[in-house]
Amino acid sequence: MTDQPRFEIPIRPPARVTGWAGDRATPGGGPELPVHYPATGAQISVLVEDDAASVGLAVRAARRAFDQGPWPSLSTAERISLLERCGKIIRDHADELARLECAATGLLLRELKERHMLRAAYNFRFFADYISQRAGERYDQTPGYLTTVVREPVGVAALIAPWNAPVALATMKIAAALAFGNTCVLKPSEQTPLALARLVALLQEVLPEGVLNLVNGRGPVTGAALVAHPGVDLVSFTGGTETGRMIMSAAGQRLVPCTMELGGKSANVIFASADFERALDGALLGIFSNNGQQCLAGSRILVERAIFDDFIERFIARAKNIRVGDPTDPATEIGPLASLPHMSRVLGFAETARADGGRVLTGGTRRDDLGAGYFVHPTAVTVPSNAARTAQDEIFGPFATFLPFESAEEAATIANDTAFGLVSYVWSDHLPTVMQMTEALRSGVVWVNTPMMRELRAPFGGFKNSGVGREGGAACEAFYTEEKTVTMPKTPPPLRRLGLGE
Ligand code: NDP
Repeated sequence: MTDQPRFEIPIRPPARVTGWAGDRATPGGGPELPVHYPATGAQISVLVEDDAASVGLAVRAARRAFDQGPWPSLSTAERISLLERCGKIIRDHADELARLECAATGLLLRELKERHMLRAAYNFRFFADYISQRAGERYDQTPGYLTTVVREPVGVAALIAPWNAPVALATMKIAAALAFGNTCVLKPSEQTPLALARLVALLQEVLPEGVLNLVNGRGPVTGAALVAHPGVDLVSFTGGTETGRMIMSAAGQRLVPCTMELGGKSANVIFASADFERALDGALLGIFSNNGQQCLAGSRILVERAIFDDFIERFIARAKNIRVGDPTDPATEIGPLASLPHMSRVLGFAETARADGGRVLTGGTRRDDLGAGYFVHPTAVTVPSNAARTAQDEIFGPFATFLPFESAEEAATIANDTAFGLVSYVWSDHLPTVMQMTEALRSGVVWVNTPMMRELRAPFGGFKNSGVGREGGAACEAFYTEEKTVTMPKTPPPLRRLGLGE
């Protein structure tokens, strides 16, 4: 028997993870669910599932904090100060939070510390800055009336987060909801509750009771109970398209507004006029960063025919050279996938590509030499057409699908031939080509000559099945507030008088 590596858990997590209703742990009421370390497959903790009654306690705590507490009417200066303290707490605990996140997700510890946690802290800082600059609307109209428009918090926000970047994605929602005066109940994915549970406990030390609450458990149990709860006023969801459909229908029954950040099958379009090396680096980052598990992955790589063979050859050489392994080792470039079922699903697409007449260029198999963890070889396939399932389905792993194109028109047609429309990437140094593509592409974001680059002031979200609504400065302000129009006369003009019998 060959020696298998034994990867150390990055931190000893708590034995049991519970939710929070105000300043009390939720009772749970559901089964205890295992949490695994994806690098070894070992169970490292359990979370106590919150049933509908337990979810009700968390929602009621948020409701009280909104209806009776000071939070919605706090001065902007006080709220800014608390948001800044939240950001500082994350920076001060970045190492611990990153280790907990690594233990449940298998994401690279280095990336978690240097990017995800800093981004999480920045989310609070960003919304603190944003609300300091808020402006109102005022209309002066004849004869002498004044109309103002104010934005008020909506109420209790249900925030539902996925497993692929739990802290980075959930903090965007928490910071935005709180900045605009809402209270909230967070539901992380049951696979990855560790860092968010610790974060909520830490933030509760500075936030008033009930402003931030936490429920844990499976989506169809805990998540569904949260969405259906009559005390919830809005839902912000990031996750898969099918789940989004279910949540939006349930919320629709109560006319509860939703934002949906959903899946993607984004085109990464590489022209012969691109800086070849930069496009190659960008294509590798676009599909293999975050262990390949990201909504904005450039998972369909469209390459102009003139450079197709060269590009693929260089891409495969680099993909084969990627260091897969221990997520705590700073030299590792791809860690394990998040779970065993997810790994089986991702690997199944290699067979799907073959069945659709495609060719597996590299990867498509498990890294058997890395023990029981969920490690795979970075994978690339070519398929005969964009109709192939690996060109249409979101795989959500380190799995690239290549297709050639002849012209910008054809590239745009292929890129847009998908049910999704989250992001697109264009690589070219020819300005007219870039302009043509940015106009033609049907996606919420187009990145030109760069891998993913979020600007929080700008909206982020998808066309078509990739989402409803946007996240970002003004987009979050619109979602997390209700507009109220107030009209009054400046000097009361005479009114038409009824009922005087004249
Ligand atoms: P899922 O849709 O499976 O789950 C997302 C969240 O919803 C989880 O917390 C899940 O809980 C919960 N959930 C599941 N079913 C229900 C339900 N019926 N009611 C309420 N909540 C429910 O997505 P994944 O976690 O698998 O995340 C991957 C997906 O997220 C990909 O499709 C990816 O593209 C998308 N995503 C989109 C982003 C964007 O910004 N557009 C960013 C990141 C990811 P549990 O896991 O505990 O069952």
